[in-house]
Amino acid sequence: DDDDNPLVERIQTEDGRVHDIHVYQVYLLGMSGTGKCSLIRQFKTTEYRGIYDYSSSVEDDPDNTVSIMLDGVESRLHIINMDIDHLKSSVAGDAYVVVYSITDRHSFQTALQFIKSIRDNELVYNQSPIKRHVPIILVGNKSDLVRKRSVTKEAARHAAFKNECKFIETSAAINDKVDDLLAGTLKQIRINEQFRNE
Ligand code: GDP
Repeated sequence: DDDDNPLVERIQTEDGRVHDIHVYQVYLLGMSGTGKCSLIRQFKTTEYRGIYDYSSSVEDDPDNTVSIMLDGVESRLHIINMDIDHLKSSVAGDAYVVVYSITDRHSFQTALQFIKSIRDNELVYNQSPIKRHVPIILVGNKSDLVRKRSVTKEAARHAAFKNECKFIETSAAINDKVDDLLAGTLKQIRINEQFRNE
């Protein structure tokens, strides 16, 4: 019974039709101060709003679930904010969004350590050879603070490539590329799922 499955939400529309909406777990990792809360706040204003998502209730959703309509299909991303400086134990998500601030080298180094930990955990928990990695998106936030930049795009892009991650720079402050991050995360989850189901 799908009603008991926390990963599928059954929605009945006004005309009586029933839809199953997938709920994915997205871990938001990064040092304190990199902008994770600000990003979540912006996620809730996304242009990719789901059709059954009546916007009024979303604003103060304590659950941090964002509804997204992408390629004609609605999904929900449950954002789990891990405001930490060290990844102590393994976590199991459908995707990981690892945030650093482009003004803070230390937060970048920490982000790379998180990525390494996630990839190491994958090796431990996957018995069979991994056909496809869990999606990780490396996010350089505060892209508006151009003059305070201390992490270059090239360095970050290179690190992302080496670890088979996606990379994007965002600004939660001026809402730049935040929608792209959200849609891109869902896209990566769907691609990953397709491969797993094959
Ligand atoms: P968290 O600790 O990772 O959740 O970070 P917060 O979202 O609380 O942000 C920490 C500080 O950075 C706050 O003062 C935010 O206003 C600021 N901040 C977050 N994102 C941005 C951004 O994109 N640009 C700028 N200039 N400041 C930001």
